Amino acid sequence: MIPLRIKVETEADQPFVVRLRSFEADPREQISPFDAALERVGPEGAHYAGEGGPIKVLGIDPSKVDGDVLLVNPRRGTADRLIRNTSQHNTFLVTERCDQVCLMCSQPPKKHHVDLFPYFETAALLAPEGATIGISGGEPTLFKAQLFEFLRRVLDARPDLSFHVLTNGQHFGEGDREAMGRIDLGRVAWGIPLYSREPAIHDKIVGKAGAHERLLENVALMCRLGAQIELRTVLMLPNADGLPQLARFIASTLPFIRTWAIMQMENIGFGRMNWKTLFYDSSEGFEVVGRSLDLVRSRGIDAWLYNFPLCTVPEPYRNLAPSTISDWKRAYRGECEGCSLKTRCGGFFEWHPADHGYGNLGAIQ
Ligand code: SF4
Repeated sequence: MIPLRIKVETEADQPFVVRLRSFEADPREQISPFDAALERVGPEGAHYAGEGGPIKVLGIDPSKVDGDVLLVNPRRGTADRLIRNTSQHNTFLVTERCDQVCLMCSQPPKKHHVDLFPYFETAALLAPEGATIGISGGEPTLFKAQLFEFLRRVLDARPDLSFHVLTNGQHFGEGDREAMGRIDLGRVAWGIPLYSREPAIHDKIVGKAGAHERLLENVALMCRLGAQIELRTVLMLPNADGLPQLARFIASTLPFIRTWAIMQMENIGFGRMNWKTLFYDSSEGFEVVGRSLDLVRSRGIDAWLYNFPLCTVPEPYRNLAPSTISDWKRAYRGECEGCSLKTRCGGFFEWHPADHGYGNLGAIQ
């Protein structure tokens, strides 16, 4: 698995952001005060130096972190790779707090919160040209004043960047009109989960009474404010049968959304604890999925399959199943040996158990 946290040594005593330069920078690129250049590589690590002082990076080849933007925590002797230069899957985890307790949550909420927005802003400004940066949690909009200001400032300063924000959609209101109006919303997609047309099913999945009603009010409000919405539905046993009903509802009532994503589950966090009662084997029961996709797409709305291994999807729908699992948590299994689809298949989550899940998968020749 690609490491997101690496070991470092530094003389600093406070956290700081730095961009590593393992090779001479392209002369067209601007060198920033946050850059640290590689000076030498020894058996004990790679030595970098910049305006912020020396930093030693341990246990990883300097070529693999060239251009990476790190948040260094000197006391722990670690650095989080906030931006990996060559990756399309950079995400800032802005909080681990959340007001929902979803049955399949891959990142169960914690009470503790540290405001890292100033570091995220610095890191985003150092991101490679044209990057899309993910924002996730926990629930990022629990800190929406900071989030809105962060988006505004970064998007104003970097016209080439865009963001994808994962949110439960519970915390928007009319009072956000002004703050949202200052953000270039054309460069922000909001990924919002909607699990069912039935309020009781949705509320049970997210562990919050009234969440469905609030969500629909806020999706409508956000669209009125000009936000681009990607509705997300994790496919599970409690909502699989109702998927066509949800598709009809989206097609008739929410045609203004940008995208609908039907997603497969991730076997980690609460998702692992509740796997047996939640996992829906779409390799054996694709009919509800296919019918729902057809319905929504026939009304001109984009609909996609996220996190579906291609061999579990009938051939006519495989073009709707892009490789969506982030590079650092993507894995392939023994069955994938020699599969002709491997280069465009997203495979599995690293932690997907070999003995649980799909009844029908295997290499496509
Ligand atoms: S066998 Fe592996 S690589 Fe091939 S389609 Fe299935 S999951 Fe993807």
